[in-house]
Amino acid sequence: MSLPSLPPLNVTSILHQYGLRPSKGLGQNFLHDNQALQQIVSAADLRPADAVLEIGPGLGSLTRYLALLAASVTAVELDGRLFPALEATLAPYRNVRLVQGDILKLDPAELMPAGDYLVVANLPYYITSAVIRHLLESAARPRRIVLTVQQEVAGRICALPGEMSLLALSVQVYGRPQTRAHIPAGAFYPPPKVDSSVLCVDIYAEPVIPFALLDAFFALAKAGFSQKRKTLRNSLSAGLKLAPAEAEKMLAAAGIEPRRRAETLSLEEWKVLSGEYQAVKTN
Ligand code: SAM
Repeated sequence: MSLPSLPPLNVTSILHQYGLRPSKGLGQNFLHDNQALQQIVSAADLRPADAVLEIGPGLGSLTRYLALLAASVTAVELDGRLFPALEATLAPYRNVRLVQGDILKLDPAELMPAGDYLVVANLPYYITSAVIRHLLESAARPRRIVLTVQQEVAGRICALPGEMSLLALSVQVYGRPQTRAHIPAGAFYPPPKVDSSVLCVDIYAEPVIPFALLDAFFALAKAGFSQKRKTLRNSLSAGLKLAPAEAEKMLAAAGIEPRRRAETLSLEEWKVLSGEYQAVKTN
Protein backbone atom coordinates (compact mmCIF):
# COMPACT_ATOMS: atom_id res chain seq x y z
CA MET A 1 0.00 0.00 0.00
CA SER A 2 1.38 3.45 -0.82
CA LEU A 3 1.65 5.60 2.28
CA PRO A 4 0.49 9.20 2.41
CA SER A 5 3.16 11.85 2.83
CA LEU A 6 2.11 14.76 5.01
CA PRO A 7 4.01 18.02 5.47
CA PRO A 8 6.17 17.47 8.59
CA LEU A 9 4.86 18.98 11.82
CA ASN A 10 7.10 21.84 12.87
CA VAL A 11 7.41 20.62 16.44
CA THR A 12 9.61 23.43 17.77
CA SER A 13 7.40 26.13 16.34
CA ILE A 14 4.20 24.48 17.69
CA LEU A 15 5.78 24.22 21.14
CA HIS A 16 6.80 27.87 20.96
CA GLN A 17 3.38 28.99 19.67
CA TYR A 18 1.56 27.29 22.58
CA GLY A 19 4.17 28.20 25.20
CA LEU A 20 4.99 24.53 25.85
CA ARG A 21 8.18 22.82 26.98
CA PRO A 22 8.64 19.07 26.45
CA SER A 23 8.27 17.32 29.81
CA LYS A 24 11.15 14.96 30.59
CA GLY A 25 9.11 13.36 33.34
CA LEU A 26 6.42 12.35 30.81
CA GLY A 27 9.00 11.08 28.31
CA GLN A 28 8.09 13.70 25.72
CA ASN A 29 10.29 13.17 22.67
CA PHE A 30 8.17 14.23 19.71
CA LEU A 31 8.62 12.62 16.30
CA HIS A 32 9.16 15.12 13.52
CA ASP A 33 10.69 12.89 10.85
CA ASN A 34 8.30 11.77 8.12
CA GLN A 35 10.36 8.74 7.18
CA ALA A 36 10.22 7.46 10.77
CA LEU A 37 6.46 8.10 10.93
CA GLN A 38 5.95 6.20 7.69
CA GLN A 39 8.04 3.29 8.97
CA ILE A 40 5.80 3.03 12.04
CA VAL A 41 2.54 3.06 10.07
CA SER A 42 4.00 0.72 7.48
CA ALA A 43 4.80 -1.80 10.26
CA ALA A 44 1.19 -1.48 11.47
CA ASP A 45 -0.06 -2.46 7.98
CA LEU A 46 -3.39 -0.71 8.59
CA ARG A 47 -6.58 -1.54 6.63
CA PRO A 48 -9.29 1.06 5.98
CA ALA A 49 -11.70 -0.71 8.37
CA ASP A 50 -9.22 -0.85 11.28
CA ALA A 51 -9.75 0.74 14.70
CA VAL A 52 -6.56 2.04 16.30
CA LEU A 53 -5.71 2.86 19.90
CA GLU A 54 -2.83 5.33 20.06
CA ILE A 55 -1.12 5.93 23.39
CA GLY A 56 0.52 9.32 23.94
CA PRO A 57 -0.34 11.24 20.75
CA GLY A 58 1.73 14.22 21.96
CA LEU A 59 1.33 16.93 19.31
CA GLY A 60 -0.40 14.56 16.88
CA SER A 61 2.30 13.81 14.31
CA LEU A 62 1.66 10.05 14.27
CA THR A 63 -2.07 10.49 14.87
CA ARG A 64 -2.47 12.28 11.50
CA TYR A 65 -1.11 9.26 9.63
CA LEU A 66 -3.25 6.86 11.63
CA ALA A 67 -6.36 8.97 10.94
CA LEU A 68 -5.68 8.89 7.20
CA LEU A 69 -5.11 5.14 7.05
CA ALA A 70 -7.60 3.67 9.55
CA ALA A 71 -11.35 3.93 10.12
CA SER A 72 -11.01 5.40 13.61
CA VAL A 73 -8.37 6.43 16.11
CA THR A 74 -8.79 6.64 19.88
CA ALA A 75 -5.82 8.59 21.23
CA VAL A 76 -5.10 8.64 24.98
CA GLU A 77 -2.87 11.48 26.17
CA LEU A 78 -1.97 12.10 29.80
CA ASP A 79 -0.70 15.67 29.50
CA GLY A 80 -3.62 18.12 29.44
CA ARG A 81 -1.28 21.01 28.51
CA LEU A 82 -0.89 19.51 25.01
CA PHE A 83 -4.61 19.43 24.18
CA PRO A 84 -5.00 22.90 22.56
CA ALA A 85 -2.12 22.17 20.14
CA LEU A 86 -3.23 18.57 19.62
CA GLU A 87 -6.83 19.57 18.90
CA ALA A 88 -5.69 22.20 16.41
CA THR A 89 -3.46 19.75 14.53
CA LEU A 90 -6.16 17.12 14.42
CA ALA A 91 -9.10 19.42 13.60
CA PRO A 92 -9.27 18.25 9.94
CA TYR A 93 -9.61 14.59 10.99
CA ARG A 94 -13.16 13.63 11.99
CA ASN A 95 -12.32 10.03 12.89
CA VAL A 96 -10.09 10.84 15.89
CA ARG A 97 -11.36 10.65 19.46
CA LEU A 98 -9.07 12.24 22.05
CA VAL A 99 -9.16 10.97 25.62
CA GLN A 100 -7.28 12.63 28.45
CA GLY A 101 -5.95 10.09 30.93
CA ASP A 102 -3.28 7.65 32.02
CA ILE A 103 -3.37 4.55 29.82
CA LEU A 104 -2.30 2.40 32.76
CA LYS A 105 -5.44 3.42 34.66
CA LEU A 106 -7.84 2.95 31.74
CA ASP A 107 -9.38 -0.36 30.74
CA PRO A 108 -8.68 -1.22 27.05
CA ALA A 109 -12.01 -3.09 26.93
CA GLU A 110 -13.81 0.16 27.78
CA LEU A 111 -11.70 2.29 25.44
CA MET A 112 -12.21 -0.08 22.51
CA PRO A 113 -15.64 -1.65 23.13
CA ALA A 114 -15.94 -3.06 19.58
CA GLY A 115 -13.07 -5.45 20.42
CA ASP A 116 -10.98 -5.83 17.29
CA TYR A 117 -8.26 -3.16 17.32
CA LEU A 118 -4.56 -2.40 16.91
CA VAL A 119 -2.28 -0.35 19.15
CA VAL A 120 0.20 2.02 17.51
CA ALA A 121 2.31 4.28 19.71
CA ASN A 122 5.50 6.19 20.25
CA LEU A 123 5.59 5.66 24.00
CA PRO A 124 7.74 7.06 26.78
CA TYR A 125 10.46 4.44 27.26
CA TYR A 126 9.90 4.05 30.98
CA ILE A 127 6.34 2.75 30.57
CA THR A 128 7.02 0.30 27.70
CA SER A 129 6.91 -2.89 29.79
CA ALA A 130 4.00 -1.73 31.94
CA VAL A 131 1.94 -0.78 28.86
CA ILE A 132 2.66 -4.07 27.09
CA ARG A 133 1.61 -5.98 30.21
CA HIS A 134 -1.50 -3.81 30.65
CA LEU A 135 -2.60 -4.49 27.06
CA LEU A 136 -1.78 -8.18 26.93
CA GLU A 137 -3.33 -9.01 30.29
CA SER A 138 -6.53 -7.09 29.54
CA ALA A 139 -9.78 -8.82 28.63
CA ALA A 140 -9.60 -7.05 25.24
CA ARG A 141 -6.17 -7.83 23.81
CA PRO A 142 -5.32 -5.95 20.59
CA ARG A 143 -4.71 -7.81 17.32
CA ARG A 144 -1.33 -6.18 16.83
CA ILE A 145 0.89 -3.82 18.83
CA VAL A 146 3.35 -1.50 17.08
CA LEU A 147 5.61 0.52 19.37
CA THR A 148 8.78 2.54 19.19
CA VAL A 149 11.02 1.17 21.91
CA GLN A 150 14.67 1.51 22.86
CA GLN A 151 16.72 -0.59 20.46
CA GLU A 152 18.12 -2.69 23.30
CA VAL A 153 14.62 -3.40 24.68
CA ALA A 154 13.41 -4.55 21.24
CA GLY A 155 16.34 -6.98 21.13
CA ARG A 156 15.47 -8.30 24.59
CA ILE A 157 11.80 -8.79 23.70
CA CYS A 158 12.65 -10.72 20.51
CA ALA A 159 15.24 -12.95 22.28
CA LEU A 160 15.58 -16.68 21.62
CA PRO A 161 16.13 -19.45 24.24
CA GLY A 162 19.58 -18.86 25.74
CA GLU A 163 18.87 -15.18 26.25
CA MET A 164 15.27 -15.19 27.40
CA SER A 165 14.04 -12.85 30.15
CA LEU A 166 10.78 -12.38 32.01
CA LEU A 167 9.96 -9.51 29.60
CA ALA A 168 10.60 -11.66 26.48
CA LEU A 169 8.50 -14.51 27.87
CA SER A 170 5.63 -12.26 28.89
CA VAL A 171 5.41 -10.90 25.34
CA GLN A 172 6.13 -14.12 23.43
CA VAL A 173 3.49 -16.06 25.33
CA TYR A 174 0.85 -13.78 23.75
CA GLY A 175 2.31 -13.00 20.34
CA ARG A 176 5.15 -12.99 17.81
CA PRO A 177 7.48 -9.99 18.20
CA GLN A 178 9.58 -8.66 15.35
CA THR A 179 11.82 -5.63 14.98
CA ARG A 180 10.68 -3.82 11.85
CA ALA A 181 12.79 -0.65 11.54
CA HIS A 182 15.50 1.41 13.13
CA ILE A 183 14.75 5.02 14.14
CA PRO A 184 17.72 7.27 14.88
CA ALA A 185 17.56 9.54 17.93
CA GLY A 186 17.61 12.59 15.61
CA ALA A 187 14.09 11.74 14.36
CA PHE A 188 12.75 13.05 17.71
CA TYR A 189 12.65 16.47 19.31
CA PRO A 190 14.31 16.67 21.76
CA PRO A 191 16.48 13.70 20.72
CA PRO A 192 16.62 10.89 23.32
CA LYS A 193 19.99 9.47 24.39
CA VAL A 194 19.61 6.22 22.44
CA ASP A 195 18.26 5.06 19.07
CA SER A 196 14.89 3.33 18.82
CA SER A 197 13.40 0.36 17.02
CA VAL A 198 9.90 -0.17 15.69
CA LEU A 199 8.65 -3.30 17.43
CA CYS A 200 5.65 -5.13 15.98
CA VAL A 201 3.90 -7.87 17.97
CA ASP A 202 1.24 -9.92 16.19
CA ILE A 203 -1.01 -11.26 18.92
CA TYR A 204 -2.13 -14.91 18.76
CA ALA A 205 -5.82 -15.75 19.03
CA GLU A 206 -4.91 -17.82 22.13
CA PRO A 207 -1.75 -17.53 24.27
CA VAL A 208 0.91 -20.25 23.72
CA ILE A 209 0.30 -21.37 27.30
CA PRO A 210 -3.39 -22.15 27.94
CA PHE A 211 -5.28 -19.63 30.09
CA ALA A 212 -5.77 -22.27 32.80
CA LEU A 213 -1.99 -22.53 33.22
CA LEU A 214 -1.06 -18.83 32.91
CA ASP A 215 -0.97 -18.13 36.66
CA ALA A 216 1.25 -21.15 37.23
CA PHE A 217 3.45 -20.09 34.29
CA PHE A 218 3.96 -16.52 35.53
CA ALA A 219 4.65 -17.71 39.10
CA LEU A 220 7.28 -20.13 37.73
CA ALA A 221 8.85 -17.59 35.39
CA LYS A 222 9.05 -14.91 38.12
CA ALA A 223 10.68 -17.39 40.49
CA GLY A 224 13.03 -18.66 37.76
CA PHE A 225 14.23 -15.18 36.77
CA SER A 226 14.33 -13.71 40.27
CA GLN A 227 17.73 -15.30 40.86
CA LYS A 228 19.10 -15.57 37.35
CA ARG A 229 22.49 -16.93 38.33
CA LYS A 230 21.00 -19.87 40.17
CA THR A 231 20.07 -23.19 38.63
CA LEU A 232 16.34 -23.71 38.10
CA ARG A 233 16.32 -26.29 40.89
CA ASN A 234 17.47 -23.64 43.36
CA SER A 235 15.62 -20.59 42.03
CA LEU A 236 12.29 -22.45 41.80
CA SER A 237 12.75 -24.01 45.21
CA ALA A 238 13.47 -20.58 46.79
CA GLY A 239 10.90 -18.61 44.79
CA LEU A 240 8.02 -21.08 45.05
CA LYS A 241 8.83 -22.26 48.58
CA LEU A 242 9.28 -25.88 47.50
CA ALA A 243 11.78 -28.32 48.96
CA PRO A 244 14.81 -28.59 46.62
CA ALA A 245 14.01 -32.26 46.03
CA GLU A 246 10.44 -31.36 45.08
CA ALA A 247 11.62 -28.69 42.60
CA GLU A 248 14.05 -31.20 41.12
CA LYS A 249 11.31 -33.83 40.78
CA MET A 250 8.99 -31.34 39.05
CA LEU A 251 11.72 -30.34 36.58
CA ALA A 252 12.60 -33.95 35.88
CA ALA A 253 8.93 -34.77 35.26
CA ALA A 254 8.89 -31.95 32.66
CA GLY A 255 12.03 -33.41 31.02
CA ILE A 256 14.16 -30.40 32.07
CA GLU A 257 17.64 -30.83 33.48
CA PRO A 258 17.46 -29.25 37.00
CA ARG A 259 20.85 -27.52 36.59
CA ARG A 260 19.67 -25.44 33.64
CA ARG A 261 19.02 -21.70 34.06
CA ALA A 262 15.77 -19.86 33.38
CA GLU A 263 17.07 -17.99 30.30
CA THR A 264 17.71 -21.26 28.43
CA LEU A 265 14.13 -22.59 28.45
CA SER A 266 11.86 -22.39 25.41
CA LEU A 267 8.20 -21.46 25.74
CA GLU A 268 7.27 -25.08 25.00
CA GLU A 269 9.39 -26.18 27.98
CA TRP A 270 7.76 -23.55 30.22
CA LYS A 271 4.39 -24.87 29.08
CA VAL A 272 5.19 -28.46 30.11
CA LEU A 273 6.70 -27.22 33.38
CA SER A 274 3.58 -25.12 34.07
CA GLY A 275 1.45 -28.26 33.76
CA GLU A 276 3.70 -30.04 36.27
CA TYR A 277 3.63 -27.11 38.71
CA GLN A 278 -0.15 -26.88 38.47
CA ALA A 279 -0.32 -30.56 39.40
CA VAL A 280 2.03 -29.99 42.41
CA LYS A 281 -0.12 -27.05 43.56
CA THR A 282 -3.40 -28.93 43.36
CA ASN A 283 -2.10 -32.08 45.12
N1 SAM B 1 3.29 10.28 19.78
C1 SAM B 1 3.93 11.58 19.89
C2 SAM B 1 5.01 11.69 18.87
O1 SAM B 1 5.37 10.66 18.31
O2 SAM B 1 5.48 12.78 18.60
C3 SAM B 1 4.50 11.82 21.30
C4 SAM B 1 5.46 10.78 21.79
S1 SAM B 1 6.15 11.07 23.38
C5 SAM B 1 7.52 9.92 23.30
C6 SAM B 1 5.11 10.19 24.50
C7 SAM B 1 3.75 10.82 24.80
O3 SAM B 1 3.07 9.98 25.75
C8 SAM B 1 3.80 12.18 25.42
O4 SAM B 1 2.90 13.04 24.74
C9 SAM B 1 3.36 11.98 26.89
O5 SAM B 1 2.72 13.10 27.45
C10 SAM B 1 2.42 10.79 26.73
N2 SAM B 1 2.28 9.97 27.96
C11 SAM B 1 3.21 9.76 28.92
N3 SAM B 1 2.72 8.90 29.85
C12 SAM B 1 1.46 8.58 29.46
C13 SAM B 1 0.44 7.74 30.02
N4 SAM B 1 0.64 7.06 31.15
N5 SAM B 1 -0.74 7.63 29.36
C14 SAM B 1 -0.95 8.32 28.20
N6 SAM B 1 -0.01 9.12 27.63
C15 SAM B 1 1.17 9.25 28.24
